Amino acid sequence: MSALPGRLVLLGHPVAHSASPRFQNAALRAAGIPLLYEALDVPLEALDVTLDALALVHAAGNVTIPHKEAVAARCAELTPLAERCGAVNVFWHREGRLVGDNTDVAGVDVVARALLQGRCAGARVALIGAGGAAAAVLCALEGWESARVRLYNRHMPRAEQLAERFAGITDVAASIGDAIHEADLVINATPVGLSDDAHPVAIGSLPEGAAVFDLVYRPEETSWVREARDAGHRAADGEGMLLEQGALAFERWFGRPPDRGAMWRAMHW
Ligand code: NAP
Repeated sequence: MSALPGRLVLLGHPVAHSASPRFQNAALRAAGIPLLYEALDVPLEALDVTLDALALVHAAGNVTIPHKEAVAARCAELTPLAERCGAVNVFWHREGRLVGDNTDVAGVDVVARALLQGRCAGARVALIGAGGAAAAVLCALEGWESARVRLYNRHMPRAEQLAERFAGITDVAASIGDAIHEADLVINATPVGLSDDAHPVAIGSLPEGAAVFDLVYRPEETSWVREARDAGHRAADGEGMLLEQGALAFERWFGRPPDRGAMWRAMHW
């Protein structure tokens, strides 16, 4: 992108809890870019009018729950990954046209590869949840040679619909136990553990040696991640994914990488 966007925003509902303004503003300061990243709380009924107003100033930004699919539908151009996911978490304007991309996928990929220490080919993955975040996980795993996913969701029809979209790598599991059987990596893509210490999968039932990836993030990690690590599993929460999708979004907006160290410090100091 050549000229700076007129505004840089996060669209979501709610957004007050989001850590994105903290680390994106740290990245902007570190790069000397004279913009403020603002979180906009946009109810669904105000999304169209908000996007129209943002188009007038060639705004760019991020999209979070619950607008990722709706913004994808509004974009004049989608990157192949955003198209495959059916969801947009990054947008900008090019020659007056709204362009949407998805960097959640790369965020998942970076963390999951690190957890498996690069042994991704042929990986057996258990995925719990079948919403937008689970779709981003499946987009990432499609890029792994011969990976297989067993997908479990508490409402089976949603799991079946998502598995159909990613039929080349995904089977629906009838239970959590069925999903995690012999898994190398167990991924939580539900909000379980976001507001309390609930676990999406009992620690004692995790296969020996399985790595654990919780897309949920909390200031002191989630209870599931802490207890899985205590039990000897490699484990990561959603913070690394959040930072990586944000760093890649910054690259889309400004054509250069951000200072990832400044972003990380903004989350921890
Ligand atoms: P979503 O589209 O609303 O989907 C939520 C999924 O979780 C659905 O499959 C839903 O199942 C399931 N679920 C909800 N409450 C549950 C419960 N109490 N027990 C079991 N399953 C439950 O949300 P999403 O966009 O996929 O996001 C899911 C979570 O991922 C978020 O809460 C967030 O914490 C995390 N996330 C993290 C990042 C990151 O950067 N780290 C990015 C995106 C999302 P049903 O279909 O049965 O309702």
